Parts: sequence; structure tokens; C-alpha cells
Amino acid sequence: MVAFGTKTAYPVYLTIGNIPKELRRKPSRRTHILLGYLPTTPLHHVSSAASRRRMLANLFHYCFSRILEPLKLLDKTGPIEISSGDGAIYQTFPIFACFVGDYPEQVLVSGCKTGDCPRCPARWMELGELKEDYEYRDLVKILEALATFEDDPGGYSAACSKAGIKPIVHPFWQELPYSDIYLGITPDVLHQLYQGVMKHLVSWITAAFGEKDLDARCRCLPPNHNIRAFSKGITSLSRVTGKEHADMCRILLGLIVDLKLPDGTSPLPLIRSIRSLLDFLYLAQYPTHTSETLQLLDESLKRFHENKHIFVDLGIRTNFNLPKLHSLAHYVDSIKSFGTTDNYNTEYTERLHIDLAKDAYRATNHRDEYAQMTTWLERKEKILRHESYLEWCLESRSKIVLRSTDMAYNGDLTLTKWPSIRAVDLDDIVSKYGAKFFREALRRYIILARHTGPLPTRSQLEHQILYVNLPFTTVAVYHRVKFTVPGDSILAKRVTLDSIHTGDKGSLTW
Ligand SMILES: [Zn+2]
Repeated sequence: MVAFGTKTAYPVYLTIGNIPKELRRKPSRRTHILLGYLPTTPLHHVSSAASRRRMLANLFHYCFSRILEPLKLLDKTGPIEISSGDGAIYQTFPIFACFVGDYPEQVLVSGCKTGDCPRCPARWMELGELKEDYEYRDLVKILEALATFEDDPGGYSAACSKAGIKPIVHPFWQELPYSDIYLGITPDVLHQLYQGVMKHLVSWITAAFGEKDLDARCRCLPPNHNIRAFSKGITSLSRVTGKEHADMCRILLGLIVDLKLPDGTSPLPLIRSIRSLLDFLYLAQYPTHTSETLQLLDESLKRFHENKHIFVDLGIRTNFNLPKLHSLAHYVDSIKSFGTTDNYNTEYTERLHIDLAKDAYRATNHRDEYAQMTTWLERKEKILRHESYLEWCLESRSKIVLRSTDMAYNGDLTLTKWPSIRAVDLDDIVSKYGAKFFREALRRYIILARHTGPLPTRSQLEHQILYVNLPFTTVAVYHRVKFTVPGDSILAKRVTLDSIHTGDKGSLTW
């Protein structure tokens, strides 16, 4: 759901499995198309909350059903003719494979009860323990229960309840051939790990060690590339974003590594459980997997479950019946079925909300906006398609130029606008910064910068260095340098690969 002004929209996007993920993750390549907007009416006029919820679920499934209507005919009509980017027409069998969404959306789509697992038959109270093996919900049994709607409307609710789902009238996946919605509920790293399990973990660690100690340790961390400095600590932050949780995860283990627990309890199980969840977090995001890395993923989750008792011992938790924590048990299966988790990342569509819903709304006169939004988007898509064609023409030309000049690296060094220190004595550069041959290196640079024609030999260079006069005694010093390369055109013009933090000997003692 996306909000703009006082209005809301529920955009649905579509992407196809054949697209390589390197392209899919770039919003600028337009590999997700907007399929439609679902109604967002809250149905306030329905006074009973239970019937309102039921009606909203039925409305959602009805609309989705209409959108996916062409896929239902597949087993009756045979393949559909679809033209590809180069204009060739192919006979295709498009099959609904996955649904990518957050937990409430997964509950809505699968028809399970809030709190239960949308994939397997595990009920809320069973979610805390890890089983050896999980089976999906029995689709055949559920479809049989759904089929009773026409013949036995009175017994429909009971039949659905027995099969373990809510009595939805014709869920959209009921007639989709070759699709299993329970298999197609994918992991969601952003909401399940960063905004779910990691969020819990930070609160449990805070409860174990206390806010004061954790925040004090945050403030002591030296600056480093890719490490965000939480100058006020991490415990007082409110409305923490996924990106902020990712930044916290990088320092989490370092923050607690030799902190003492109250009453002399051994912190080992706690460190083990944090480490195993962090292992899981990073392994789950590997861009490629082997059976070995998948086994490591499995083992890290097992290790967490073996050590999680520490949170109960410390009185922080009484159970672990958390749907997001339980969902980790299905990651390996999903990766085996649909590829690595970056193939179905909800972050991609969060980004699309801005382009495809918010910008589209701004372009309307804010009245009866959906029709205007779709027209605006259709036009914009056509312009973008033409633009990318022009870009492709230019790119193919520039590739030839690049090859002829044999450029291996297109990176840059970026400095801050103002130096960290405006004037540092050349002697201090040698003694305090440890740049022993700074003068010689500078002279060499000056010679080579002025030089034209064939390069001097090493002995010629060493001789010429003696005659270069440096007409100054101080230089400006920058304590930070960034290495950047051109980034994705929409998200960022330049991306920082790495950065160096430095200083004189005095400032380096933290
Ligand atoms: Zn499950």
C-alpha cells in the first residue's frame, strides 16, 4: 500500500522469471511493470469489523482474479503469443510462480489466519520450535474445500476451517493452472530479517545489557567505511528504517562481545545466538549459492535455536512464536525453488512506489485520479522505452570507443569540498603523518605533470628531482578520500566503493 497526500493506492507489479536479476534489481531498466491498482476502500459503512475484514479479503481476491484472468485459460487455449523486445513472437505458457509481499499481504493472499505461517500448516503456538522438515499446506485438500462453495454454501465455512484457511469466495489462485500459492510465498529479507528478526534482536540485546552500556560502546567506535557512526547510540532511535537496521547489524557483535551479563550468567549462548542470526542474515543474501552455503544457512538457524534459551533464562522472552522468525525455516526451500533471495526483494517495489504511484498522482488534478494516473504511466512508459532505445544506440557506440582506448578502470578519487586542515608544515607531513618521501613524491609528480614527449628513465627522473624547487612550506590535508565509480542512473550518480579515513599520529589514537 502506498500513500500520497490524503489518498492511498495499492499498486500490483509484475515481473517475469526469465529476466536476469542484474537487470531486475535496477529500477531504471523497467523490469517490473505496473499491472494495476487494487481498491483501497476501507468500507467504513460496514459496522461489523469481522464482516468488513471478510469483505475486504473477498474484494482483494476478486480484483486479483480479474487481473490474472488470461492465465486461467492457459490449459484450455494452449500457449499465448507474446512478442519479445526484439519484435519476435513466441508461444509462451506464462505461469503464476511467486507472490512477493510483506506478512499481512502474505496472510491475505494465502487465506491463513493472522499469526500462523502462510506456507506450512504450523499454527501460531508451534512457530517457536524448529522442526527437521516442513511440508507445505495441502493444496489439493484446500482446493477440494473451496470447491464446496457452489454445492454446499452452508457447510463452506466449516469445510474451509477444516482445511486450515479462511472461507474466501474464490481466492484468485483457485483456478490458476500449475500454480501452488503456498510454494510461491517467498522470503522477504527486508521485512522478515531487517525489520523483523533483527529489530527483535536489538531489543533483546538492549534488555540484556542495558541501554547505557550499549550506547556508550556505540560512541566509542572509530570511523570506518561502511560503518555508520551512531553518535547518540542505537537504543533511543525511533521509526528505524531497514537501512538503519542494516547499519546496526554491522556493529552488533562488536558492541556486545565482552560485555558482562547480570548475576555472572555466561554470555556465551547469547553471543552464539546473535552470531548465528547474523550469519543467517548475510548468508541469506548471497547472490549465488551452493549446496555447501545452503547447509551453512541451515546450520546457522539450528545454532540459534540451540542457544535461544538464554533469552528465556534472562527473563526477556517466554516464547519464540514469531511468524517472521519461523519464516527463516523456509528460506532454503525457497532458494532451491526460485533462486537466491535477491530475485524477489520487496525493496525493488518500494522504490517503484515513488515512480509509479506517487509521481503519477502528482501529475493528475487529484480528482478521479486513477484513470489519469494510468494514462500518464502508459505515456511515460512509452517515452522511457524510446529513451532506453536511444541509450542503447549511444552505448553500443561508446563501447567501441572504450575498447580502443583500453580503459580498465573508470573510477575516481573524491575529496571533501574543504580540507580537514588548511595548512600543514611539510616537516609535519613527514614526521606526524609518516609520509616519509612526501617531498620527493611531490617533485616527481610535478615533473611528470609538466612533461611532454617520451617518459624520462628512472635515473633521469631521480636527477631532475634534485632541481625542482617547492615554492611553499605548507600543504592542505584531507583526512578522507572516497573511491567512486559511476552508479545506476536513477538511484545514484556515483557509488562509493571504499573510503580511507586517516589523520596525523595524534588524531589516530582513539
Ligand atoms: Zn511455515
